[in-house]
Amino acid sequence: MRPISYARATDPVEAIATVLADPESAYLAGGTTEIDLLRLGVVRPTALVDINDLPLARIDGTDDGGLRIGALARMSDVAEDSVVVQRFPMIAEALLLGASPQLRHMASMGGNLLQRVRCSYFRDGVSPCNKREPASGCSALLGINRGHAILGTSEHCIATHPSDMAVAMAALEAIVHVAGPNGERTIPIAEFHRLPGDRPEIDNTLQHGEIITAVELPAQDFSRNHTYLKVRDRLSYAFALVSVAAALRLDGGTVTDARLALGGVAHKPWRVPDAESMLRGKAPSPDLFGNVADRILAGAKGYEDNAFKIDLARRTIVRALSQAADGKPQSQTDKRIQ
Ligand SMILES: Cc1cc2nc3c(=O)[nH]c(=O)nc-3n(C[C@H](O)[C@H](O)[C@H](O)COP(=O)(O)OP(=O)(O)OC[C@H]3O[C@@H](n4cnc5c(N)ncnc54)[C@H](O)[C@@H]3O)c2cc1C
Ligand code: SF4
Repeated sequence: MRPISYARATDPVEAIATVLADPESAYLAGGTTEIDLLRLGVVRPTALVDINDLPLARIDGTDDGGLRIGALARMSDVAEDSVVVQRFPMIAEALLLGASPQLRHMASMGGNLLQRVRCSYFRDGVSPCNKREPASGCSALLGINRGHAILGTSEHCIATHPSDMAVAMAALEAIVHVAGPNGERTIPIAEFHRLPGDRPEIDNTLQHGEIITAVELPAQDFSRNHTYLKVRDRLSYAFALVSVAAALRLDGGTVTDARLALGGVAHKPWRVPDAESMLRGKAPSPDLFGNVADRILAGAKGYEDNAFKIDLARRTIVRALSQAADGKPQSQTDKRIQ
């Protein structure tokens, strides 16, 4: 039995100071990741600082048409918020395609960005895993790797980031607001999650003690032509094999702006700005979308069980862009989403 201290913070400064004082401590929000991993023995915090009483759950539209979502807003509340649905429907769709209704009631925005990989070797608590136990090896390289990454991998880790919401956030260039011992700072979402490289134990650029306070979505008009398309083994309650967040701005049949991010394929939401540029100034067509997909997947590498993801990703990109161009997101074509 290992003792764990528990404190319920009422003030962000106090919460930061408490976590900062102990390198083995962690914040606790909805607990749907943290408590899971604690029970499995994958994480071993000595102290948990419950942040649920902090005033960080507001969802506010900004005057210029953007949005600020508090880190403690629950996935279900964000997905149903009228301003989110009106201004950033792709975020609502990505949230509704994640987890289950019960989990979405518990799970917070900040926790969602910080959820850990679903690699079974990481979660079993005993297999060699560089992420859980640095320099112990990566069991997935020659093991079961069907759900693993095809882009941005390293010889040290091939896990994928499992969040759906983060993929839509990456496409919409969200900004993560953080508070820490040195005050507040912002991190563009593209710089928030990291690739494994030779430090796979580090998931993101947050420092110990820093707390996510909010996620901001800058004003932009992608509310008509978009889709979050998630391909998974079951229609509900399953992580993405491949997902694509696609958003287009069209003017008279020509693409004037485009955003594309992939999930289920890398250690972070995957964006290739060059591929997005290929869409601008062109008329939507399957050939164009296929060329864009080829550009995105140019460096993709499959392993024993997951090589199928390369072709799956290509087809998912083409379908997502086609749905976005037609103004028919997955939520409208698939009424069975839960
Ligand atoms: C069975 C199951 C299926 C799931 N399916 C999906 C899915 O399909 N798609 C998907 O996207 N997600 C899925 N999830 C993941 C789920 O979305 C996350 O577990 C959830 O969003 C985490 O939020 P939380 O508030 O519970 O975080 P917690 O478990 O409380 O915390 C997670 C981590 O974030 C840290 N943390 C939390 N809040 C903050 C903060 N504000 N600042 C700094 N650190 C913080 C904690 O210390 C911890 O390390 C699934 C989860 C489960 C259990
Ligand atoms: S892929 Fe990453 S998380 Fe999975 S066993 Fe290898 S190092 Fe661990």
